[in-house]
Amino acid sequence: MTDFNRRQFAALAGASLLLPLFNIKASAATAPRVVVIGGGFGGATFAKYMRKASASAKITLVEPKTTFISCVGSNEALVGISTLQKLSFTYTKLKSLYGVTQALSPAQSIDAVNKTVRLASGAILPYDRLVLSTGIEFRYDAIEGWNQSTEALLPSAWHAGPETTKLAAQLKALPKGGTFIITVPPMPYRCPPAPYERASLVAWYLKKNNPTAKVLILDANATFPKQPLFEEGWAKLYPGMVSRIVGNVTAVDAANRSATTADATYKGGVLNVIPPQKASALAVSAGLVDATGWCPVDVHSFESKLVPGVHVIGDAAASGLPKSGTSASGGAKAAAEAIGNLLTGKSVTDPVIINTCYSRLAPDYGIGIASVFGVDAATGKIAVREAGAGTGMSPVGASTSYRRKEASDATKWFKAMMADTFA
Ligand SMILES: Cc1cc2nc3c(=O)[nH]c(=O)nc-3n(C[C@H](O)[C@H](O)[C@H](O)COP(=O)(O)OP(=O)(O)OC[C@H]3O[C@@H](n4cnc5c(N)ncnc54)[C@H](O)[C@@H]3O)c2cc1C
Repeated sequence: MTDFNRRQFAALAGASLLLPLFNIKASAATAPRVVVIGGGFGGATFAKYMRKASASAKITLVEPKTTFISCVGSNEALVGISTLQKLSFTYTKLKSLYGVTQALSPAQSIDAVNKTVRLASGAILPYDRLVLSTGIEFRYDAIEGWNQSTEALLPSAWHAGPETTKLAAQLKALPKGGTFIITVPPMPYRCPPAPYERASLVAWYLKKNNPTAKVLILDANATFPKQPLFEEGWAKLYPGMVSRIVGNVTAVDAANRSATTADATYKGGVLNVIPPQKASALAVSAGLVDATGWCPVDVHSFESKLVPGVHVIGDAAASGLPKSGTSASGGAKAAAEAIGNLLTGKSVTDPVIINTCYSRLAPDYGIGIASVFGVDAATGKIAVREAGAGTGMSPVGASTSYRRKEASDATKWFKAMMADTFA
């Protein structure tokens, strides 16, 4: 990213920190009821920014956990550069500063006709507008041999938490000179660059602790984001250590830690299966999901194209945005503004959303990309604005100090984003 772009994005990111404290007037019986399911990047950001959009709305966040563990940064936690504790955030500020009520129970079903959500606790929540940000679920039927019972042996660590700890233990126990295999599912999946960041950081760990070991990426996709930057970094930092084969994994043998593509079977000391993904069963049962497995939405308001009154944000939505925390957060802000307008009979405007994406290849080696997304008038979909002009990617061939600066920027960006969501 150029310095000019960096300054622009820093200014925009800073602007969101200027959110005022609100004089919440949510007592009136007529206050609009907004329910949001899921308290991750999309849902938590939405709850906070919904208060900015409406001082009177009764905002309920349905989230069974008291602590959110961020996937962003979890590759660092996997190799010991960070900890899960540093990635853990609570909803205290959303409740105390923004008047959000948390319902500590999973949502079980949605009745879009009567506009209610039923929780596992048995409680029924009526809503005027409902927002769903439940993230991803795995396709347990997509890879022969990878299912709920073999998942314990082959943790994906694609939800940060206990799985991250389990995979970290497997990495530690990798036999000398063994191979750590990472399988990448077909797009779309959560955080497209993250498997390659994981491969890089695992190589960093192995270089120090098990230098004859190897990392093998079995990739269902022909190309991947920031590919020239990753490949440059692997050649520079981990020569001969990281390799990648294009091939969709269709079967695994959990006991043997082997993975099979159309061409061959590969055996590793650790087999990290990142499975194909889809929107949650709750979204399916509510009729929000189409044949793609994701939720089609109106790109101005994120309202479902299939179920009126229900908006879908974050990874579950098929909006044209990448499935990233930054995009989930940006989409959440746009949806909050749109719902604020819809509740007061105003028109909804075109969203402009910034996606910033850093990846770390070593503690002091970062690469970044930033893109501005908007509604493409020709297709009516959300897309990168003026491809090229609205995009900044760190250059191939940059100096060591540039990469160190990008790694430090990544840390600052993460702190700012988490403060924007949870503080
Ligand atoms: C290894 C890894 C690294 C990543 N790195 C980055 C990065 O560097 N930058 C970036 O921008 N993104 C990154 N991401 C992607 C980012 O984590 C996701 O895109 C983001 O979390 C999506 O937000 P979301 O709100 O859709 O889902 P989530 O953040 O997963 O939140 C979903 C929430 O819904 C709750 N929930 C689920 N079902 C129910 C229910 N029935 N009732 C109530 N609550 C429910 C869950 O408990 C959870 O809290 C990374 C992801 C991974 C796996």
